Amino acid sequence: MSETNYNPFRTAQAQLDQAMEVLGLEPSMRELLRWPMREYRYRLPVRMDSGEVQIFDSYRVQYNHARGPTKGGLRWHPDETIDTVRALACWMTWKCAVLDLPLGGGKGGVTCNPTSLSTSEKERLARAYIRAAGHRMSVDRDVPAPDVHTTPQIMAWMLDEYETMMGYHHSGVITGKPIPLGGSAGRNEATSLGGVVVAREVERVLGHPIKGARCAIQGFGNVGGILARLLHERGAKVIAISAVDGAIFNEGGIDIPAALTYYNRKMQQLGGFDGGDATTNEQLLTCDCDMLFPAALENVITESNANAIQAKVVIEMANGPTTPEADKILHQRGVFVVPDILANAGGVTVSYLEQVQNTYNYHWSLKDVHSELERRMTSAFKDVYAEYERIDGPMRLAAYLLAVERVAEACRLRGWV
Ligand code: NAD
Repeated sequence: MSETNYNPFRTAQAQLDQAMEVLGLEPSMRELLRWPMREYRYRLPVRMDSGEVQIFDSYRVQYNHARGPTKGGLRWHPDETIDTVRALACWMTWKCAVLDLPLGGGKGGVTCNPTSLSTSEKERLARAYIRAAGHRMSVDRDVPAPDVHTTPQIMAWMLDEYETMMGYHHSGVITGKPIPLGGSAGRNEATSLGGVVVAREVERVLGHPIKGARCAIQGFGNVGGILARLLHERGAKVIAISAVDGAIFNEGGIDIPAALTYYNRKMQQLGGFDGGDATTNEQLLTCDCDMLFPAALENVITESNANAIQAKVVIEMANGPTTPEADKILHQRGVFVVPDILANAGGVTVSYLEQVQNTYNYHWSLKDVHSELERRMTSAFKDVYAEYERIDGPMRLAAYLLAVERVAEACRLRGWV
């Protein structure tokens, strides 16, 4: 979040308002969809290794459940606030609807610095969160998952606390679990693989081939790092990558397997990697490339750099990387932007497949998961692209029109509005 006073929930509401205006939704529906239906705040006392008790602020937002149980990750981050969680829960609502999953949108967060917590402190924090919030979760009510700084191990502690509290097993209450506890094959790379399916669809409709495409990727974590590997394996030339400590640029193409080895060995840093020239995250965003993949943070493409973006295609792997003002500039300049609610939906799609497997107490092969993910992402891209052609407007607006109408229809059918 690079600009001060940036509030992601205001961005989320602005994007929604634009779609609701075009759809001509009734005032009561607009009022319903602009705000979370349920939100909870919890103060969590956790005993630290020192023996002292520290109190953590935490949240869970169940934004809209008209289409099914709410679904969305849990972030542990020092900058987490009720508004970051509201924004992410709002985006999850439209993301699930774009993919036509029978789910609503939710999100949770704990304001903390996970890098300063020991493993046992993380376990006590995870269990404290579930003791506070778990009574409002279930496979048919609200289903959390990992997100920034939460891991399959944290999901495993949470599942154990939940099942101990409830006195029965239902592993589908949390997704992104380790495979021996009911996790799905393919969850780890699902978001990035979904991004590759999107890039392949862009190739189909615009004729920009992946093979040989000069790609820049901001963020080298779970999403950006795996995406770089998958694009590299498909013949793309990844010319710029970055992590929080800076970026690397190499016009001839970066050796991605070597960069991944370095990043993991250097505790998630790229500084000092000798496979290219050191540059900054800001320069990465505006470098001369064919495809730009923001895969780190929200609010990185803004009014101040949108005119300098040289990529012809932007595929938003992070949530909320582009502000509404920047969106207008990119559209006027003819940059083709695939919005986050479509581009990074591979993760929630495989989370949904995990819930389905858990409900049947069954385990699908990696091949089955990949083919179902591919089928669903391709079909969602085609739906959004058809809407884009119909309205002759940005892909983001096209995706919002589809998603918001689907949620509004479910609200009407329930008699809420
Ligand atoms: P991660 O923590 O694994 O990786 C984040 C990467 O971004 C790291 O390389 C980190 O160094 C880098 N980074 C952090 N701060 C930065 C900064 N100020 N400038 C530049 N780089 C910075 O997280 P992730 O799971 O890869 O998630 C990345 C984004 O994708 C987030 O916006 C997340 O919400 C979104 N997303 C993730 C998933 C998923 O399945 N993991 C699904 C959908 C969306």
